[in-house]
Amino acid sequence: MSAPRPEPAELLRSVFGFSDFRPGQEEIVDAVRDGRDTLAIMPTGGGKSLCFQLPALCRPGVTLVISPLIALMRDQVRALREAGVGAGALTSGNTEEETEAVFDLIEAGKLKLLYMAPERLASGGAQALLRRARVGLIAVDEAHCVSQWGHDFRPDYLRIGELRSALGVPLAAFTATADAETQAEIVTRLFGGTPPATFLRGFDRPNIRLAFAAKARPRAQIEAFAAARRGQSGIVYCATRARTETLAQALCEGGHTAIAYHAGMAAEERRLAETRFQQDDGLIVVATIAFGMGIDKPDIRWVAHSDLPKSIEGYYQEIGRAGRDGAPADTLTLFGPDDIRLRRAQIDEGLAPPERKEADHARLNALLGLAEATACRRQILLGYFGEDSDPCGNCDLCERPAKLFDATQAVRKALSAALRTGESFGAGHLIDILTGTATDKVTARGHDRLPTFGVGRELGRAGWQAVFRQMMGRDLIRPDTERHGALRMTDAARPVLRGEETVMLRQDSIEAARAAARPEP
Ligand code: ADP
Ligand code: ZN
Repeated sequence: MSAPRPEPAELLRSVFGFSDFRPGQEEIVDAVRDGRDTLAIMPTGGGKSLCFQLPALCRPGVTLVISPLIALMRDQVRALREAGVGAGALTSGNTEEETEAVFDLIEAGKLKLLYMAPERLASGGAQALLRRARVGLIAVDEAHCVSQWGHDFRPDYLRIGELRSALGVPLAAFTATADAETQAEIVTRLFGGTPPATFLRGFDRPNIRLAFAAKARPRAQIEAFAAARRGQSGIVYCATRARTETLAQALCEGGHTAIAYHAGMAAEERRLAETRFQQDDGLIVVATIAFGMGIDKPDIRWVAHSDLPKSIEGYYQEIGRAGRDGAPADTLTLFGPDDIRLRRAQIDEGLAPPERKEADHARLNALLGLAEATACRRQILLGYFGEDSDPCGNCDLCERPAKLFDATQAVRKALSAALRTGESFGAGHLIDILTGTATDKVTARGHDRLPTFGVGRELGRAGWQAVFRQMMGRDLIRPDTERHGALRMTDAARPVLRGEETVMLRQDSIEAARAAARPEP
């Protein structure tokens, strides 16, 4: 008589030491254990590893785990071994003894989980080795690395689909990237086009407070945010390498312990920064998005964006690094018209085909919609990922609802200023016209004789900047990056111009912009 199959709930306690599954884990564990092809989308810190580690113990043979993050693989192998599970890794970082030990476990039939870096799949003999090891399941971590459009693309991930068909075993793919296109690419490339059982779970991270603010004096705003959280570990994300360095320095001058981190630094320096961040308390890392993948620090208490992230997925992944321990964590995202322009330009100037660019603009729009939201941010965020929810009570808008005003007239004035100048000018020049500022450029072009000249004095420059930013956020106007950011009206604006639709904008962010209308010192 064979031994009874261990129950997942029992293994959860006896091997992993957890009393309950996290939201979504149990269904995924069941599907993977039953040998179904599975795609699980869970946020960073949601507990993905358990969803392949636990089924691996219920299934015969070895589970091959493919992950691009060597340090994380090593951590997992160590933890599994400590829990008494036969686990090993074959990576470029192995010593000969380590590799020998893995082969010994395979020969002895004691290996349950075999971790491998994708590069290893390219080496000759990998398939034969995996057959000999009796691989019965493939688990792919960070499955979005198969997407050629993402910035984490790993060419070796393209070999996984082939391996799966060669071995004829089920595959379970895991990622925190939830957008539909990446999902579609994963299905094509890893599952040969046959849709797997798909789970999108646990995106709510209720302990993370959400907040956005209009960017007025970013250095001062980030400094104030950090100062209110002195002594806590935090990350500040910036859009450029140069900015990480200036901001890190500014924070140090403000008495914080802060270091910069970006892909332009030497590998050694970066590793040092990662280690310090993991080990020290109260260190602030000011980084580009190069920082974070593979960082497993449970007590990051806050994440701030000094520049707008590039998509709603990126935003969620980055703030998701805070509060993995479940204790309250705080976030702040700054955004301004320059950010919107920069992100649009990055999309337009990229090498992607036109459909892809359109989709990227749409994803940026989703983030801008979140930035300029008028009610609970979490509802919007989770809604984007396909989850329904009630107002959260843990975002800036739940705490202090936005004041709105009917901005239809202001928007029509702005659109008219753009149209009457041939949609050839940026916000600065249009605001000069609206506020009746007769600059040389305005008079040289005769724009001081336009009927729109001076029709918007009541809002002031800063007020208009907020209006333009919100209009960009609603995609009513778009900077034409081929013409130095000249603003063009979009189709969405036509009904407003024709008087068929009203536009409600946020009064508070306009007031805040006007109050903060002092230049950065
Ligand atoms: P990710 O989804 O980012 O890969 P991990 O698998 O590393 O996340 O899990 C994040 C953290 O959550 C880890 O510290 C892990 O031990 C913990 N964790 C996972 N599942 C559970 C659970 N059911 N109960 C309690 N803690 C859990
Ligand atoms: Zn809320």
